[in-house]
This record gives sequence, structure tokens and C-alpha cells, in this order.
Amino acid sequence: MIKLKGIGAATGIAIGPAHRIGREDYSVPKQQISESEIPVQIQLFEEALIKTRREIIDLQKRIASEMGKDEAEIFDAHLLVLEDRILIEEVISRLKKELVSVAFIFSEVLKKYVEVFSKIEDEYLKERTADVNDVGRRVLRNLLGKEHKGLENLPEKVVVVAHDLSPSDTAAMHKQNVCAFITDIGGKTSHTAIMAKSLEIPAVVGVEGVTLKIKTGDILIVDGATGTIIVEPDEETLKFYREEELKLKGIAERFLSVKDEPAITLDGKKVAISGNIEFPEEVPSVKLHGGQGIGLYRTEFFFMNRKDFPTEEEHYEAYKYVAETMNPNPVIIRTLDLGGDKFLSQFEMPHEIQPFLGWRAIRFCLARPDVFKLQLRAALRASVHGNLKLMYPMISGIEELKQANAILGEVKGELAHHNIPFDKNIQVGAMIEVPSAAITADLLATEADFFSIGTNDLIQYSLAVDRANEKVAYLYEPAHPAVLRMIKNIIDSAHDAGIWVGMCGEMAGEPSLVLILLGLGLDEFSIPPQVIPEIKFIIRSVTLKQAKSIALEALKLSTGKQVEEYAQGKLKEILG
Ligand code: PEP
Ligand code: MG
Repeated sequence: MIKLKGIGAATGIAIGPAHRIGREDYSVPKQQISESEIPVQIQLFEEALIKTRREIIDLQKRIASEMGKDEAEIFDAHLLVLEDRILIEEVISRLKKELVSVAFIFSEVLKKYVEVFSKIEDEYLKERTADVNDVGRRVLRNLLGKEHKGLENLPEKVVVVAHDLSPSDTAAMHKQNVCAFITDIGGKTSHTAIMAKSLEIPAVVGVEGVTLKIKTGDILIVDGATGTIIVEPDEETLKFYREEELKLKGIAERFLSVKDEPAITLDGKKVAISGNIEFPEEVPSVKLHGGQGIGLYRTEFFFMNRKDFPTEEEHYEAYKYVAETMNPNPVIIRTLDLGGDKFLSQFEMPHEIQPFLGWRAIRFCLARPDVFKLQLRAALRASVHGNLKLMYPMISGIEELKQANAILGEVKGELAHHNIPFDKNIQVGAMIEVPSAAITADLLATEADFFSIGTNDLIQYSLAVDRANEKVAYLYEPAHPAVLRMIKNIIDSAHDAGIWVGMCGEMAGEPSLVLILLGLGLDEFSIPPQVIPEIKFIIRSVTLKQAKSIALEALKLSTGKQVEEYAQGKLKEILG
């Protein structure tokens, strides 16, 4: 029995056999060929490319019908790798020169590509390694005539163990026999981690070298809350975790019992609990879990993985659907938050050394009013179908907020001029996710109807910690005194100015920190749909007076660890 430790990305306990997605697929024996075999080898290569193409298109069709068009478009990038002339020509010219089997040459070229991509500083291009890897593995399997042993048609519930998860692997987990996953790399607020929560399975990321330590078939226990993995547990440990699993199920049922009740403290303070979504298809899940609105609709996912910009009508239809389905509850549309780790395929972005500090979010929108205005027009038009609000990401100072509002004013003027109806009193908020905005919240409050605190970025910027890098994940502390003080300043400044404050970063869904946030006066918690019942349950178990005194005590502590331990203790006390 061995114990491994990583970063808990999605809570829950799973017990099952490991299914390793290895990287060993590249070890192809070096086999010499004669010159006369060259045409046959080229033909084999072409057939493998065609077969792979067919497989990807089939998978794409299946994903489109099961999960939606946007998820299916991820595979467009895979199809592009298959058509890469430079890669294909390099394989054929080396085949002719070196007289070695095409499978071997292809595996060598692939290794080189993957190495080059993984060394690139640019986070987005680095992520493309997963696409190249994914497609490459498929081509090799077809070249070697091997059966596809992906995640489809797994005979039993398995724990997927991978270096990182490619888009096709993650998408294939949907509705498959996967009870948990573990990866070598990644941080708590990385894309993989956020995805695990929506799949509702436990996940542990950033377990260095896990793919070397675990082999397919090993029995594993995955504890997503603590980030613990136990390999080949003994009977006693198995019994302990089986009991824990049952207890967790019981607790989840207890939480679910209040999902449709209001989020109100024992002494009558009501707060709003809403859900975060990336796609309109997630709206039913928010309703199912008792969400009273959408506090963050990440609209940039609509722009990603497609060749053209979405039209105004496409935006309008999506926003109208979300507004109508949630009506009368509010829906906050976050305007395009492009850049950082989110890029557009239809638009060549300049290479930047530090994209998270670069030309992103509102900075891009202010520089491209054509793109910005189109989205604003669609959102304003959809505002008559429900209770829509707008918010801007990455506001760093008042000039940006004023400029964005001025553009919004122009769009409103144009619509009014053409007698196109829209909600004239639509609320417009600023995301507070940059330290300069947090510190000057009093100034920004004069130009905004509300704030929404984006802690995923606020923490990364204020503590100077890349949110997706497992090497520095130990420094990524939501409970850090600097973060708590900033949050207090944001809430106090907003309330002094008479506006409300929400939080849509993952921190708002951290059970132990909810008491502190409530005590600091947060008005709205916007969280992944699956944690809504638990957060409601906690709020309904405490008085505002208790929460305020917990927040006050927490602010006196000097490290994130002390705050975390203190808050955990208080939560245990309150929930029994
Ligand atoms: C945040 O930064 O906290 C946030 C909610 O936005 P995103 O995670 O999309 O950057
Ligand atoms: Mg953000």
C-alpha cells in the first residue's frame, strides 16, 4: 500500500481499478525497410490518417448530439493536426531517407513536435501539446493496427490516471464508466479541475509522477477533498474509506434536502446563491441544484474552437434562451474574457511573454469595439426576455470602466434610435479581480451597479501565483490575509456606496470559507451548480452574528493556514 498526495480538485471518494492513459504508446520498435517497400509504407500512412480522420469525425458527431455543438468543435483543432502539411512531409521525406518503418518515423516526429510544443512559454500553445499528443496516439494506433483503448466502452468503473487530460479524453468521460481521475499536472482552478466539478466525479491534480507510479489494474482509493490517493489499499483502509463514502452520500442527501429553500441565516439574513456556467446547456443543472440565478456566464467559450466569430443573432439566441429559462431570476452575462489561457482560433493573437498580464479581457474589447459592440447589442436585445445584467472582466481602474460604459451607452443610443426594445435600467457591474481594482473599489463603485469578485484571478495576481501551475499551488491560498483584507475592502466600499457585491470565483464555493465571506457581508455567492446545496445548507445553519464574529477573528490571524484551520474548526462545530 502506498499513499500519494496531490491537489484535491473535486471532492468525493472513489474506489476502483486504475486505467492509465500511458505515454508509452510512442515506443515503436525500429524496423528497417527496403527501398521497394516505400510506396506501401506511404500508403499505410495515408490509410492511417484517413481512418483517424473518420474516427474523429464520428466522435465529434457523437459529442455534438450528447453534449452540444460547442464541445464538439474542440475536435476541429484535432482535424487540423491531421492536415498539417509540414508534419506529413517530414514523415515522408525521413521515410525515404532513413528507410525505417513509417510507424517508427511517425513516433519520432511526434515526439519532437510534443517536445517543442511543451517547451513553449506561451500557455495556450503549451496546451496544444495535448491535441498533438491525442491525435498522434490515434494515428499510431491505426498504423500499428492496434485496437483503440480510449475511454469509450470501458467495461467497469475505473479511475483514469493521466499525465494531463486532452479535450477528447475529458469529453469522452462524459457518460462513461469513469469514477474519478488523477493527473500529473494542473492546479486547483485549472480548466481540468473546473471540468471535474461539472462531471460530478472526484479528481486530484498535480500528483507529480503519478503515471509512473500507478499501472492499469491497480486498485485505488481517491479522496478528492484531501487530494489523497491510496494505491493497493489493505482491507482495513478499504473498509475505512467505504464507510467514509457512505457517510459522504448521507451528507450529500442532507444537503440536497434544502436545495429548494432560500439561502437564509438562522437570524434572517438572506443572500443569493447562483450558478456559474460556460454554455447555455448548463442552465438546467443550475435549476436542478436550486440555483437562484446565473452569477457568471463565461461567454468567451462561445467564441472558442470555431473558425468564425459568432454572429449577433447567435449571441442573441443564446442569451435569450438563458434569460427566458431563468426568468425571473437574474442572469449575469460576463462580456468576452479572452486572453490569459483562453484564445480564439479565428483571430491571430500576438505572441505575449505573460499573456495573463497582457492584452486580454476588457483591454481587448476596448481595442476592438466592433467585437465588443456586437456582443453588447445582442445582450441588450435579449434583456427584454428576462432579468439580464452585464459585467466586465479584468477592470483595473476607473478609466476602463468609464470607457466600457461609454461604448455601452453608444449601443443603447443606436438601439433606441432604431426603436429596438431593451431594458433601459439594465444593471452593469465590474468584476473585481485585479488588485488595483480591489484597492480602489470605492472609486469604481461610483461607476458600477454591482461588483462581482473574481477570486481565481484576484488570488493569482495578488499573491503572484499562476493559478494553473502545480509547482506553486502551495502558495495559492484563498484564505491568505492579503486576500481577506482585499475582499473586506471591496465589500465595505461597495456597501458604503450603496451597491451589492457578489463573488463568482471558486472561493465562494469553498465550504469552510463561506462563513467568513458571509460575515464580511457578501450578498451573492455564484458557484459551480453541484456545490449549491452544500453552500445553502451551511448558510442556513448559522446566524449572521456568528458569521460576523468568525470573520472578525479570521482577520486577526497572520497566515492563510491559520485562517483555514480556524474556519474548518468553526464549520465542524456548526454542522456537528
Ligand atoms: C475569476 O477570475 O475568479 C473568474 C470567475 O473568472 P475566470 O475563472 O473565468 O477567470
Ligand atoms: Mg477571471
